[in-house]
Amino acid sequence: MKLNPDDIRRLAKFTLESGPDEVTCEQWLHMVGEYVEAEQRGEADGPAHAQVAKHVAACTHCAEELALLRELLDGEA
Ligand SMILES: [Zn+2]
Repeated sequence: MKLNPDDIRRLAKFTLESGPDEVTCEQWLHMVGEYVEAEQRGEADGPAHAQVAKHVAACTHCAEELALLRELLDGEA
């Protein structure tokens, strides 16, 4: 298979926008509940948890969401 420059640009763009271990905000929301619970148990170190942590480093909106969830959980404890 031969790639022309346009294909390469398309591929590069795709890779930038969604690397293999990037999650979207929606995927992130599905993972974060489990993440904060694991965090409370001191177990938030699996590969899925690394993705959650990586996402909040890049996404302020989800970082705020995570801070809120942590507060909620702390309130319950
Ligand atoms: Zn996000």
